[in-house]
Amino acid sequence: MDLIIRRAKLRKKNGLFDIGIKNGIFAAVEPNLEATAVHEINALENLAIPPFIDPHLHLDAVLTVGNPRYNESGTLLEGIEIWGDHKASVTKESIKKNADKVIKWLIANGTLKIRTHADTTDPSLITVEALVEVKKAWRNQVDIQIVAFPQDGIFTRPDSAKLMQRAVEIGADVIGGIPHHEITSQDGIKDVEFAFELARKHNCLVDIHVDETGDDQSRFIEVMAKQTLVHEMQGQVAASHATAMHNYNNDYALKLMGILKRSGINVITNPFDNSVLQNRTDGYPRKRGHARVDELLTHGINVCIGHDSIMDPWYPLGKGSMLQAANLLLHTAHMSGYHQISQLFDMITDHSAKTLCVEDDYGIQIGKPADMVILDARDEMQAIRLISECLYVIRRGAIISQTTPAKRKITLNGRQECIDFK
Ligand SMILES: [Zn+2]
Repeated sequence: MDLIIRRAKLRKKNGLFDIGIKNGIFAAVEPNLEATAVHEINALENLAIPPFIDPHLHLDAVLTVGNPRYNESGTLLEGIEIWGDHKASVTKESIKKNADKVIKWLIANGTLKIRTHADTTDPSLITVEALVEVKKAWRNQVDIQIVAFPQDGIFTRPDSAKLMQRAVEIGADVIGGIPHHEITSQDGIKDVEFAFELARKHNCLVDIHVDETGDDQSRFIEVMAKQTLVHEMQGQVAASHATAMHNYNNDYALKLMGILKRSGINVITNPFDNSVLQNRTDGYPRKRGHARVDELLTHGINVCIGHDSIMDPWYPLGKGSMLQAANLLLHTAHMSGYHQISQLFDMITDHSAKTLCVEDDYGIQIGKPADMVILDARDEMQAIRLISECLYVIRRGAIISQTTPAKRKITLNGRQECIDFK
């Protein structure tokens, strides 16, 4: 073996395991592996997991918070307005520089697969070009999918459809949309239909920003479900945000659950942005503005968690931690039950792999690419509670990130004691 990780815990399995890696592939996963390797890591009974996945990120906007101004209202609309002003001064180099920096943060936080959106509404398309170059530059460390994302809508300006087509030719892998941002409901329906037709033409996946509003009349997710069935794209389509669902009446929501299940749509919820952007017009009481995560899961619909923004006009904070996103969703989606904490962990790992259609290359199993993370945590609950450090991040059998957790010493009656909150 090239590398052996010893005494690791694995999710949903009892006991401790040794994990052997050879030529960048998992070659053995068993207790007390007899083989030896030049490099060995003692996992000290910590949890070894496949890498985290961020299925929804805007790498072209990261680290732009405050430029040219802060979002004082906290609304999606002011965020889009600020981004529009920012785009006027953006360069390809500045996008790449910010994206590179954030990708390093993501790696250190254990994320090795990313789906990023790239705004296609500026005629220069430098956002798409920049992210295609970023994807290529990082291909040995991180797998990146790029969504052609019409931030300002397809039918709000004359050339938007052409720019989407061009974005695919430049290298976008997934087709996006933003139906709730079109001027009329009819245009919103056309926005969804356009995305599916373009996806079919180029054999791409679909991931649409849909119903990202508190408006209970925004129901474009049902159009997505219908289009998924018409184009027989079950499993290849993601509905991002779908926050209006929070405010739907319960009869319609129940009908919708059945439709979503039948169409095999994946739902991506984004706790950071959704919690600050949605239901801003409520006054009091304030609703939470999330998709109905627990109901969707109960109905057997695949739901995963995205980080969405990292310090941009829509969300001012963030450091690229999927554990932190799961921790937040536990609170805002009322998912504190014991089995729900395991579900939250699924939503930043396996569920996202399903959404990105990368399951064949994902997981700690013999024959799969040796990508993994050793957490500073014994189990899922500890990892989400402590937003644990990633002690080792391994890509194709090579250690690409190592973290030494902080040491805290308290002194009581002249005696020192180390504490780690475990
Ligand atoms: Zn988004």
